[in-house]
Amino acid sequence: MKHRLLSCLLATLIALTASAEVKYVFYFIGDGMGVNQINVTETYQAALKGKIGIEPILMASFPVVGLVNTYSATNGVTDSAAGGTALATGKKTKNGAIGVLEDLETPCTSIATWAKKAGKAVGIATTVSITHATPASFYGHQPNRNMYYEIGQDLCKSGFDFFSAADFHTPHVKDGGPSLHEQAKAAGYTILKGYKEYQKKGLKADKLILFQSDKRNEHLTSDQLPYSLDQNKDDLTLEQIVRAGINYLSNKGTDGFFFQIEGGMIDWACHSNDIGTAINEVLDMDKAVKVAYEFYQQHPDETIIVISADHETGGMAMGVGPYEIHTDLLKYQRRSINEFKSILRDQYKKAPKKFTWTAVEKQLRDLMGFGAGIKLKDAQQERIQRRWNDIEKAVTESNADPDSKAVRDRIGDLCETTKHILSEVAMISWASGGHSNGYVPIFAVGPGTEIFQGRIDNIEIAPGMAKIAGYEVE
Ligand SMILES: [Zn+2]
Repeated sequence: MKHRLLSCLLATLIALTASAEVKYVFYFIGDGMGVNQINVTETYQAALKGKIGIEPILMASFPVVGLVNTYSATNGVTDSAAGGTALATGKKTKNGAIGVLEDLETPCTSIATWAKKAGKAVGIATTVSITHATPASFYGHQPNRNMYYEIGQDLCKSGFDFFSAADFHTPHVKDGGPSLHEQAKAAGYTILKGYKEYQKKGLKADKLILFQSDKRNEHLTSDQLPYSLDQNKDDLTLEQIVRAGINYLSNKGTDGFFFQIEGGMIDWACHSNDIGTAINEVLDMDKAVKVAYEFYQQHPDETIIVISADHETGGMAMGVGPYEIHTDLLKYQRRSINEFKSILRDQYKKAPKKFTWTAVEKQLRDLMGFGAGIKLKDAQQERIQRRWNDIEKAVTESNADPDSKAVRDRIGDLCETTKHILSEVAMISWASGGHSNGYVPIFAVGPGTEIFQGRIDNIEIAPGMAKIAGYEVE
């Protein structure tokens, strides 16, 4: 009996010591990243080497692997707000709600707040806007995810140390009043733009918001960084955000940090059924994971990295009937479909008369591989040709008006067809342009993370991480 009591005490002591040692917590969320989004990326990597099978990406090579349920309190298929709230707070809620329970009033706090109360430095980051559903779930409390302005005000009140994203989704309130930038500054935040500015001035800031550089792609608004396929050298990347975040948070003089990082546009690419872009977004997030993993390797006993997703997007599957797939062909896709659309529309607007089939065919070849690496079937060629005929007709009918909406729309149609053909040639199918209830993966590395092995629910992740890191769960 005495012996049992002693070993019980000893076990408790070991558990306490173990949890006290974990100082650095990374929580990655791939928005829309179901198990098939991982699988297609690894299959693509193998295909690039001419292999059938998989070429592992870093995150999926972590020792702990599990499957996560994602349904919300009110829907079999969750949205990003309820999904984010579950991942952040350990509470299921109504679709659309951010950091409040199903009654849409009772706030629920997140692991980021628990970490802050435990004396840790806290960072929140994403590739989309900082007030978007996933990051918002870690600091916001609003009944509706579209209340971007109010969510931004929650950010200013959070007291968290580091935020990084494209920008605020909606920095200005409609009837005037101070912008969110002004309110954030009044709350003590320094706002820097781009990684170079971070390198120069980051560590001088008491609290920091790092946004996209001013040299942003003219086609994009403040609600996203460019897709990795469309990045230019001045663009802020998720990898840089993680580097900046680690540097900033570890210099706060706190006993460790909690850092949440979202790959927000895997979801967007899958909503759009843009497969090559989706794969590149997973690879982009994997690069960011690598930066955290390098930190882990320097502090293996004190660091955990947990990676999961809020839901699957698109009901994507590899295979369309015949027992084959050709993901290797997606390497010829050199721009996201959205950017491709903007490029063609710009080209038309600049010189409507020079917008010929030869010009468009060249773009299809150079940026999508059509007629070069990708040989189209006659029927596919005819579909593209019909779309071109529609553009030509709209150009004639508008007297080559550079601002013609009809021409813009018909160019959009051509790009839609291009996108569908890319999925067809790669032999990828999509159930919809929305979310599905498919399992999402959880990958983890670091002391204590074995608790995530197997099948778990999305509300178990935040409390589980808090337990490992010694935060008090609210
Ligand atoms: Zn989502």
